[in-house]
Amino acid sequence: MITRQTILDWCSQTLQTALFQDYAPNGLQVEGRNEIRKVVTAVTASLAAVNYAVEQGADMLLVHHGLFWKSEPVTITGWKKARIATLLKNEINMAGYHLPLDAHPILGNNAQLAKLMNWETEKQFGEQNLLNSGRLKQPQTLDELCRQLQQNLGRAPIAVGQGNRMVERIIWCTGGAQGFFQTAIDEGTDVYLTGEISEAQFHLANETDTAFISAGHHATERYGIRALGDALAAQFNIANVFFDEQNPA
Ligand SMILES: [Zn+2]
Repeated sequence: MITRQTILDWCSQTLQTALFQDYAPNGLQVEGRNEIRKVVTAVTASLAAVNYAVEQGADMLLVHHGLFWKSEPVTITGWKKARIATLLKNEINMAGYHLPLDAHPILGNNAQLAKLMNWETEKQFGEQNLLNSGRLKQPQTLDELCRQLQQNLGRAPIAVGQGNRMVERIIWCTGGAQGFFQTAIDEGTDVYLTGEISEAQFHLANETDTAFISAGHHATERYGIRALGDALAAQFNIANVFFDEQNPA
């Protein structure tokens, strides 16, 4: 029998959760039944993902974005109550892995995006090793890179920069990491890619001649949790299904 604790121990050891300073708890967030036979993975523990886990008869919902964040109210009301009540009623465990899952050199969001896009990772650097730098295996124009992103991620990116500029060096961080743009500029790169864009990055990109790509928060973070679920399924011979929510953001 595979127990919840066995799965949680394996995840925290594999992802080295103790090494990170996070603003969300990594590991078990809502406790369900003890035995784990089936896991549903999803980017976010949304109500849709929780309901899917119920439909699938899953024992655990494993996500990148859990339910508890430092900056949020701690009360369990409204939409948060609905998600938690459904988990508890169905005895489904919910575990979340945030920054450790972004940074893991093989299973992580950054590593998995590079694999999907065929980029060569040269190093991890910056705050908690969340930034990756590397090279495209074939230099491309910014337009070509955007087309490849649209093809692979199923979503058109927003790019700031001349479409015909050549791109070889790339720095990336999945999710909402537009705040690291300056770090990427200081490091030196042709393009910085993340999941989101705010107003300021447009000007920074133009004034530093560093292209900026916003390729989608959900779109860039689909791959880490999926890789974690696949690794878990292979390790413990349990069932594993990925719930791909159609989130345009
Ligand atoms: Zn995220």
